[in-house]
Amino acid sequence: MPELPEVETIRSDLALRFIGLRLEMLKILGERTIRRNKTNLEEVGPELLGRQLSDAKRYGKYLILELSGSQIGEISYLVVHLGMSGRFVLQLPEMPNGRDHTKMHVRFSEEDLYLWDPRTFGEVFLETGLDDLGRPMTLSKRLGIDPYLYPHNVAGALGEVAVRSSRAIKAVLLDQKVIAGLGNIYSDEVLFRSRVSPSFPVSALDKRGIERVAEAVVEVVNKAVVLRGSSLKDKSYMDLSGRPGSYQSEHLVYGRYSKACMVCGEDIDRVLIAGRYSSFCSICQQGADRWDYS
Ligand SMILES: [Zn+2]
Repeated sequence: MPELPEVETIRSDLALRFIGLRLEMLKILGERTIRRNKTNLEEVGPELLGRQLSDAKRYGKYLILELSGSQIGEISYLVVHLGMSGRFVLQLPEMPNGRDHTKMHVRFSEEDLYLWDPRTFGEVFLETGLDDLGRPMTLSKRLGIDPYLYPHNVAGALGEVAVRSSRAIKAVLLDQKVIAGLGNIYSDEVLFRSRVSPSFPVSALDKRGIERVAEAVVEVVNKAVVLRGSSLKDKSYMDLSGRPGSYQSEHLVYGRYSKACMVCGEDIDRVLIAGRYSSFCSICQQGADRWDYS
């Protein structure tokens, strides 16, 4: 958390509010936040002042702020990953203990924007270019297909893994090198809708099975973007204006362990895969057996 739909919501909020404005301030307040390339941001950061925010892009769970200078081709990308609970806010929240979790403070044409990240799993770094798919160059090999940007390539990406791996399908969906942008929430929802058990080996899925999972990935992600993401009880995700998303009301398995399955009434079960608990229904998700091939 936040996953693709939440980051996409923040991207579109930032685009609406900040594109066309000029960068007046870039202040990094957390050493850990710039761990990927500290020197680069400290040295190049001041040169970015006066640049215009020409686009707000996203790939997987990464936000990519495009900063253009006055010269043709003078473009830098400020890349932000929100980690476990990072948020962009327009006004700093008031904390009862006075703690300030601001990790970055930027100002575009007198409008302030803060990266608020209590757990500091988020990060910020500078990139000089994006590859053909729109991935930050240094992450090209670490990010697979973005299902919102390239919905028609999801089945192909899963199919490639299926021929060389017998990993659990849940672990494959969480692997950013295969599908970029899914986390625990959306991969659980995808598998319930595909009727595949999270521990089912990806190699045991036939072509139609792969297609069913791929279709569910695209369907779940698109619907969640329309509903502006999922805000859980911990309120760690809110949009730029502090409003919650509403996809949480569509959750059929995530966060519903031991509650009754909404389809069959059986208690929702859970299993530990790739270090995360996956919620699933042992009746509704029985691998490929129950699929309707007609
Ligand atoms: Zn069920």
